Amino acid sequence: MPRPDNPGMQSPEPTDAEREVFERALLDAAYEQAVKSLHERGIPIGSALGSPALGVVAAGHNERVQSGDTTAHAEVCCIRNAGRRRDWHTLTLASTLSPCIMCTGALLLHRIPRVVIGEHKTFMGAEDLLRSHRIHFRVVNDPRCIALMEQFIHDRPDLWDEDIGIPPGDDAA
Ligand SMILES: [Zn+2]
Repeated sequence: MPRPDNPGMQSPEPTDAEREVFERALLDAAYEQAVKSLHERGIPIGSALGSPALGVVAAGHNERVQSGDTTAHAEVCCIRNAGRRRDWHTLTLASTLSPCIMCTGALLLHRIPRVVIGEHKTFMGAEDLLRSHRIHFRVVNDPRCIALMEQFIHDRPDLWDEDIGIPPGDDAA
């Protein structure tokens, strides 16, 4: 029987309290990425990936304005920054905003089982798809994340509409 402090031993399942602390730190890391992108005059959406055992393993933010790549959403950039690995099934992804259908597809492809969503007040992503694939997700409705997106959508409605594919002059959307 290995001793609990044996470094070779597999990490035990985190307690609910430990997971709560970890998920808060992961969302904080995602929020920092969103603010970084805003300072670069980009879209303020950020993501971070990690686990209670490993901590934050990767982070990223929307890079559409910065790179000209229209598919460079925060979650995709974060997953890209995590590199090649085989432990996706142990990771949690946090995103400041409800993940869109493309990013949800990337999550499902990699079998990432847990998602922490900063908010879904300013944009509702593909949460029905997460639900139908039995992905464990939690919507925090973090006031910082809501304020960041509300301000951005107010200041740059054209840039936001472009991000989610709304055609010019489409007032119904
Ligand atoms: Zn997306």
